[in-house]
Order: sequence, then C-alpha cells, then structure tokens
Amino acid sequence: MTVAGLAHSPIVAVRAGRLVDVVAGALLPDVVLLIRAERVEAIVPGDSPIPDGAELIDLTGHTVMPGLIDGHSHLIGDLEYADVPAIGMTAEREILVGVRNATVTLRAGVTSVRDVGTFRAFLDLELRDAIEDGLVVGPRMQGAGAYVTVPGGAGEVTGLPGSEVPPEMRFGLVQTPADVRRVVDAICDRGADLIKVLATGAVLTRGTEPGQVELDRPMLEAAVEAATARGRYVAAHAHGAEGIKLAVRAGVRSIEHGSLMDDEAIALMAEHGTYLVADIYNGDWIAAEGLRGSWPAETMRKNDETTEAQRLGFRKAVAAGVRIAFGTDSGVYPHGTNAIQLPLMVHHGMTPLGAVRAATVVAAEMMGWADRVGTLSVGHYADLLAVPGDPFEAADGTGLAALQAPTLVMKGGSVVRDDRRLSEPPGR
Ligand SMILES: [Zn+2]
Repeated sequence: MTVAGLAHSPIVAVRAGRLVDVVAGALLPDVVLLIRAERVEAIVPGDSPIPDGAELIDLTGHTVMPGLIDGHSHLIGDLEYADVPAIGMTAEREILVGVRNATVTLRAGVTSVRDVGTFRAFLDLELRDAIEDGLVVGPRMQGAGAYVTVPGGAGEVTGLPGSEVPPEMRFGLVQTPADVRRVVDAICDRGADLIKVLATGAVLTRGTEPGQVELDRPMLEAAVEAATARGRYVAAHAHGAEGIKLAVRAGVRSIEHGSLMDDEAIALMAEHGTYLVADIYNGDWIAAEGLRGSWPAETMRKNDETTEAQRLGFRKAVAAGVRIAFGTDSGVYPHGTNAIQLPLMVHHGMTPLGAVRAATVVAAEMMGWADRVGTLSVGHYADLLAVPGDPFEAADGTGLAALQAPTLVMKGGSVVRDDRRLSEPPGR
C-alpha cells in the first residue's frame, strides 16, 4: 500500500478500561488505541478526541492485552491420542481439521502460534500460508515442517513396521550428523520457520522413554549449525535431564517440556538464556482422558512420571530466572483452551503478570517476532484480547482463568470475536 493509501485507510479506535503494558509491567487506566492498516498507530489518553470517521470499539470496564502466543502447539489433525498417530486419516482431512483448530485457537484469543510439528511433514506450512493469504481464519503461525528424530524415536510413527508408514511421515529420520545436516537443509528448503528436534523419548510415542537420550551431542550440534546457517533456530523436545543438558550446550533456543530437569539443567538454561517451554497443564488432561479411554499402561506410567516432576522443575526454573515462554502442547489436549495453563503457572511460582508476559512478549522474543507481536506498542500488529474486569486482581492468578473466554479478540485490527452483546442484560 502507498503512503497516501495508508493515510486514507480507516482508523479503528479501541477504548480500553485498562491496557496491559507487558513491557513495563503496568496496567494503564483508560486509554485509546488508534489502529490503522493492521497496526497500532498511537496510544492516547481516554479523554482524547476520537479522529473523524474512526470506528469506536468501547471496551470500558474491560482489560485489554496483547493476544496470547502459544509457543508449543500442534494445529494439524486430530488430538494426538495414545494410538498410532494420524495413520488412519488422509492428509486432506488432517488439513481440514487443522483449519478448524486454527479458527478455534484464534477465537480463544491466541493470535500467534509456534507449531512444533506434524507427523505428516509440511501440512503445518500449508496451513500457515493459507492463514497468511487470508484463505483461513487462524493465528499467525510459525511451523517446524517435520520432526528431526531417530528411527523409532519420539518423532517417529511407532507401533507399525516402517514399511507401512508413508514416506512423508518419515521425512525427518536421522542417524548421523550428516543426515541431520541434509534433513535440516531440506526442511528449510520447504520453508519451515524453525527446526524441531526430538532429543529424548516422549510420553505419547510408544516404545520411547522420556528420560532416554535419543539425539547425541554431535547430531544436536549439527542441527543447530545447519539451522543457524539458514537463519533458523532449533527447538528441542527434551524431557530427561541428560537430553536437556546436551541440547542446551549444543545451542538450541528452547527446551520443550523439560519435565525431568535437574538443578544442573536449570542452571545451564539460565546461563545460556535458553527458553523453557513447559506444558505444565496437559498432564492432568492426559491422566483423566487416558483413564476414560483405557489408554495403554505405558503411556499412563510415563505421564505419571513426568507431570508432577515437571511442575517441581518449573517452580525451580522460575526461581532461578530461566526465561519462561508459554507453550501448552495444545493438540495433545483440546485446542482453544490454551489459557487454562496460565493460572497453573502462577500456582507454580510466577506472578500473574509474569505468566502473561511469558504468553506475550517473552514468547514473541523466543520466536524472533518481538518487532511485530507480543506487545501493543506503536508499529506492532493490533492483535489483542479483552476480558471484563481486572484478571490481575487476584494475586493467586485465578483471575487469569477468564482469559480462556475473552469477550473480544482482534487480529491485525480486525475483530474475530465479539461476545459483548451476549453479556448485555436480558430484555434489551
Ligand atoms: Zn508437542
């Protein structure tokens, strides 16, 4: 758009009863956000005149904050049950379900997502591009494209002979550092935003153990080198302490899960500035759902071994000053309930504002998107949500539960959810 065109594009004015400044860590009372061409153009006092012709969205009585960022999500396909993943579903259906997941996620106030993998390679990148092109309603997305994993490892379709697994589900299989370099290059060629490596076993992947190292130091270093050379970063799935340490020392940007971290692993993350993305809610969901669905004893055991241990480690990591970025593993549990994890993060040692920072400005930094999302600063995308009252009032974080059902959600200045009518008194 030309500069002249920009000047004539319509202005949206959002009057916020309270605006959360996640950078300064402050609540600003009664301000107006002026939004033009998808971005915040100015932030002015609430009694300032509204520009002629501006559309006014009155959120007096509400708290307005940047849209949430889920740093660990899987939007493609159905929920990842303890069964052989996705093999019975066509790629077309996996995409269509992904479209539904993306819409549900955005309407829940999650305006950006880091998608950390799909068993069937590259469907996430199709979804990302379709959202970017305006074909699909969904959050801004980064995608990992494919899992970099050893054969039979956490990112492999296990429980079937390899010959029965389609090749697009085995794209990222590696056994040597040379394999890793080749695969990382190929994933970058396909347009992935980041590289996802499976450094240890997993809870849901049968036949793997969360505490077990799967990628050795030379393979992890090869991944970081190859990704860096292509301007990408590495996110490492790592439950066990040994796998976490290998990955941190190799230079990954984030540790996913981190369930069995020990004091040394925590100290290393703090020292290296590695982000911890700990999905501390979904263990509860797996425990309940697994019981209902009679999931295999192996899965339930691994979930039991990681759930409380992860929360204990999380608490220590918060105290040690590790960078905490919000990530839920949505896709293992239902999409659109992402914010259910926020009160739990406060219960395990963060302040309410700290938890929201993890889900906004800190997650944006981790993704390399600090210049466009994560805060409602001038020049950033007008990605925001609003909830009634003050969700920060309760020091124990219980007020953050309201973020699961925002009254209003906006992405790039366009309203994608507006439930204000629903909360008006009956009879009007
Ligand atoms: Zn995951």
